[in-house]
Formats: sequence, structure tokens, C-alpha cells
Amino acid sequence: MHEWALAESVVATVKRVAHEKKLHRITEITVKVGELQQIEREIFEFALEQMLSQADSPMRDAKVVLEVERAQFCCRVCGTRWAFETQQLSPEIAEAIHFIPELAHTYIRCPQCHSPDFEVVQGRGVWLASLKGEE
Ligand SMILES: [Zn+2]
Repeated sequence: MHEWALAESVVATVKRVAHEKKLHRITEITVKVGELQQIEREIFEFALEQMLSQADSPMRDAKVVLEVERAQFCCRVCGTRWAFETQQLSPEIAEAIHFIPELAHTYIRCPQCHSPDFEVVQGRGVWLASLKGEE
């Protein structure tokens, strides 16, 4: 499943960083999830915890902290940047966009020039934001 594959790549990064920093024990990892990333956060968190608990000793007891990164858009026409939450969308549409980010271009317009031509500069993907451990 998608969530498990994402969790696996995060765990692989944790392993690499732990190795590079010569950490003997990892106490906490913070993982950021983009607001527009198509993911079941509960499944993802469960997958992460499962993989960590079955991994080699340094990360076995690591606490997982999930943080959501708010989406941000940048207009290709006038350069305005704005955030998802400032949009006046109905809850149904906001929900739909969370599941199918491509729909954003149908419903969201630049607040300045009303162009639908914008890029998502923030709020997608899943990555390891930080890691705490002991040397
Ligand atoms: Zn614009």
C-alpha cells in the first residue's frame, strides 16, 4: 500500500541519518506530511510505528511526531503567494481537493489576478523533518 511505501522511505532516511550522525539511539522523529498529500495519516503513522519497532535497535523506541505542512500556492502570472486556508471554499470542495490535489486548479484562483495558473509550492509530499537521538 501507498502509506507503507511512504513509511518505508522515511524509515530508510532515518537509518541513513542515524548512521551518518553515528547515533546509537533515536528518541524521536518528526515527519512532515503535506496538506495536499494523498495519504491516510492514521495508516501512515501505524506503518511507521510498526516498521520502527521491527527495525534495528537504534530506532526501535523512537517516538513518531507527525506534522502537517500547510499548502501554499504561487501564481505563475503575477507571483502572488497564498495559503490554502485563506481560500473561501466550501467544506466539500476543500475535502475533495485533499483527496485529488489536481482539482485545486478547477476551484482555486489567484486571489490577486484570478488566474487558475499557479503552482503548489508547499504542501505536498512526506519527509523526515527532524530527528532526535543520542550519540
Ligand atoms: Zn495572480
